[in-house]
Amino acid sequence: MNKLPLPEVDDINAIRSVADNHRLRSFPHLKPIVNDLHAGYVQYRLVGGDAETIVPMALEEAVRGFLRGHYDSPPAALSFILRMRNEDQQRICPMCGSKHRYTLDHLLPKEDYPEFAIYSANLVPACKCNTDRGQTVRGNAAGERVLHPYFDECMSGRLIAARFDNLGLIPRISLRILLDPRHRDYAAVTFHVRTVVEKGAILGRIKDCWVDLCRLPKLKIRALEQIPQSVVRLREILEHELAMVDEENRGKNSWDSAFIAGLLDVDVTQWLFERLTAPGRTPNDPLTTI
Ligand SMILES: [Zn+2]
Repeated sequence: MNKLPLPEVDDINAIRSVADNHRLRSFPHLKPIVNDLHAGYVQYRLVGGDAETIVPMALEEAVRGFLRGHYDSPPAALSFILRMRNEDQQRICPMCGSKHRYTLDHLLPKEDYPEFAIYSANLVPACKCNTDRGQTVRGNAAGERVLHPYFDECMSGRLIAARFDNLGLIPRISLRILLDPRHRDYAAVTFHVRTVVEKGAILGRIKDCWVDLCRLPKLKIRALEQIPQSVVRLREILEHELAMVDEENRGKNSWDSAFIAGLLDVDVTQWLFERLTAPGRTPNDPLTTI
C-alpha cells in the first residue's frame, strides 16, 4: 500500500476529443454522454474515489463497450494511458505493497464502472493483487471499501506491521492493523488489508524474511553484522533499518516495512536481543538451531 500523487491529466479535454473524433468507431455514440461523464468525473474526485459512495451510471451496452475498448486500445487523445502503463514499473504496488511488477489497472472495475474506464484518477498501477480482487470494491459493513492510492491520505502513514507469536525458527505470523480503531478510515483499512493485502503472498514473504534473519541476521538488518550492546541499541538499529526501507520504497507499507515494523514489538525485540547476545554466539551464527 502506498499513497501516490494524482495523475496530472486533463480528462475532460481528453474525453471531449475522443467523443468528437469521427474517425473512431465510437463516433457519435459518446457525444450525448460527455456531460454525464464529466459530471461523473467531478463526483469521483469530490468523494475521493470512495467506492461506497459512487453509484454506477446507467449506460447503454454499446457505449460501455466503446469506453472499455478505448482503454484497451487508446486513441491518440488518451495517450496518457500508454504513458501510465509504462511508468514506475520498478516501484512497490500501491494496492498491496508487493515488489512485483506493475500493470495499470482500474480501481473501480471497468466491467461495473465503464464510465471510469478511461478516467485517469481511476487508473492505478498494481500487481496481480488487483486482478485477484476482481470486482470487489466494498464490504457489507459501513465504511468497508478498498483504499484509493490517489485519495486516501492514511496510506502515507504506517498501517500494518507483522505480528510474530510462538517465537522460534517458524513463528506464527499475522498482520496487525496499526491505525487507531477510532480513525474514520479504520473500517476501510481493515477491509483493504483483508481483501487485497492478505490475499497476496505477504505472509509468505515475511516468513522468508524471518527465516533469513534467524539464519544470518545481517542479511535482513545490515547493522547486525555486529552484536548490539543493549536492547536499546538493537531498537535503534531496527528503527534505522525501517526508515531506510521506507525511504527506498517511498512509503511505509511495503511488505519489507511490515516485516521490520513487527520486529519492533517489545517482546520480539527482547527475544531477538537474547538470541543475538547468547553466550558464545558470533555475528555470523544463526539465532536458532534447526
Ligand atoms: Zn499488489
